[in-house]
Amino acid sequence: MFMVGQGERVLAIGPHEDHHCPRCDEVRPFEPQLRYKFGEFDLLFGFVYDKRYQLACTQCNHGWLLDTRLTERELGRIPIPLRLRFGFVVLLVLVAGLGAAAYAIKAGP
Ligand SMILES: [Zn+2]
Repeated sequence: MFMVGQGERVLAIGPHEDHHCPRCDEVRPFEPQLRYKFGEFDLLFGFVYDKRYQLACTQCNHGWLLDTRLTERELGRIPIPLRLRFGFVVLLVLVAGLGAAAYAIKAGP
């Protein structure tokens, strides 16, 4: 049986930086974050959507979006589990493989 789940994660990806926060109207520490949503099937195969990098005020969560390509280049890696990043591809390959096997059996010698 398939179990389907979904969730959202926020990861800190660097040291805090001080910026003036327009909402707090004060200089606050801002945290660079990666926020993403994900879905998963059977807790094994997953996929990521709505991924974004942001700089968020640690007090009120107000913040700015960061440029994805630039941020990933600076990070040098994408801090999302491989299972979620490529799980869906693995699932598709498995399904395609099973489909091909079933076809081969049905077609017979
Ligand atoms: Zn703030």
